[in-house]
Amino acid sequence: MNVSGFLRKAASPVRYAIGAYGREWARAVAAAGGGGVVLCYHRILAEADCEGRRVPPEEGLPASVFEAQLRFLLRHFEPVEAARIREPAGASRRPRFAVTFDDGYADNRLVAAPILARLGVPATFFVVSGYVGTQRQFWWDRAMHLVMNARVDHIEIERVLGTTGTAPDRLSLRTPAEREAAASRLCRDIRHGPPGEIAGVLIRLEQACGVVTDHTSPIPLMTWEHLRELVAQGFEIGAHTVEHHSLSRLADDEVLREVSACKADLEGKLGRAIRSFAYPYGSEEDFDDRAVEAVRRAGYAAGFSFVKGFASPRSDAARIPRICLHRAWPAANAYAVHGALAG
Ligand SMILES: [Zn+2]
Repeated sequence: MNVSGFLRKAASPVRYAIGAYGREWARAVAAAGGGGVVLCYHRILAEADCEGRRVPPEEGLPASVFEAQLRFLLRHFEPVEAARIREPAGASRRPRFAVTFDDGYADNRLVAAPILARLGVPATFFVVSGYVGTQRQFWWDRAMHLVMNARVDHIEIERVLGTTGTAPDRLSLRTPAEREAAASRLCRDIRHGPPGEIAGVLIRLEQACGVVTDHTSPIPLMTWEHLRELVAQGFEIGAHTVEHHSLSRLADDEVLREVSACKADLEGKLGRAIRSFAYPYGSEEDFDDRAVEAVRRAGYAAGFSFVKGFASPRSDAARIPRICLHRAWPAANAYAVHGALAG
C-alpha cells in the first residue's frame, strides 16, 4: 500500500464515524444513475462452531459477523436481488447492495438463510451442479484440511506440486498460523496449475502431510431438496459451472459445456429458469472472452465476477463486479465498500 492509501485506510474509522462515507456513496451512485455493490460470501459458520477458537478466513465467516455486516449495509443501502443491481436508480435513490454465495455449502441454508430471511435481505446462491447432493469435497477444502491436520512440521511445496528444477521451498507447519499461511500459499499455487493435475497434487499432499487414512466427513454441501427449499423461500439459485474449473484454462468445448450444462442441470432439477451465473474463482485471469461469450450464448441475464468494483447501469451484464467484506466491523467494511463505490 502506498502512503496515500495508508493514510486513507488509517482515516477510515473517523470518516465512517462522521458519516462522510454515506454522503460520498450516495453521490457516487447518483452520478452513475444507480447501482451499488454485490457482496460475495462462501461459508457462514454457526456460532457454536466458532467458540473458543480463531476461525481462519478461508474457513468462513461467523454468523454474528455476517449479521453485523448486513445490519451495517441496511443502514446505508437498499437490499436488492443481485440481478437488479444494475437497474437505474429508483425513487429512493439510495445505493443498493446484493448478497451472493458461491459453491453451495450446506451452512448457507442452515445458518445464513434464516438471518437473511429475518432481516428481509434477498440472496443468490451459486451452486456447482456436479457437487450438489454429493459427498464430494472441493479441492481447497481438502488441501486446507490436510495441511491443518498434518503430522509433520514442514512440507516441500515443489514435491507436492510435482514441479521440478526449482530449489526445494519448505513450508513450515509448526504453528497454526504457519499452517494457515502454508495452506493459503498451496491453494494459490494449485489454482494456477492445470485443473487436470489437482487430483495428483492432493494425493502427494496426503503423503507429504502423513494423513493417509482419514475418516473425517467432507464439509456438507446443499442437496437438490435444500435448493428447492431456498427457492420456496424466495431466494435465487444461480449457476457456478459443473466442476468449478477456471474457465480460461479449459478448451473451447469444455468452456461451453461447463457453462450450459450447469444451467440445464439446475433447470431440470429445480423446474425454473436459471438466469444468473458466477465465474469460478472469478478473477480476470479466470474468465476470458470465450467464457463471457458462452455465458451470453447460454442465455444467462447476468454474469458475476470476483473483480472488485461498483456495479452500475453502465456495467457489462456479463461481467458484474463483486466485493468481499473484511471480517472487522464496521470501519473496515466501510473502507472495503468505499473502495468499490468511490474508487
Ligand atoms: Zn466458487
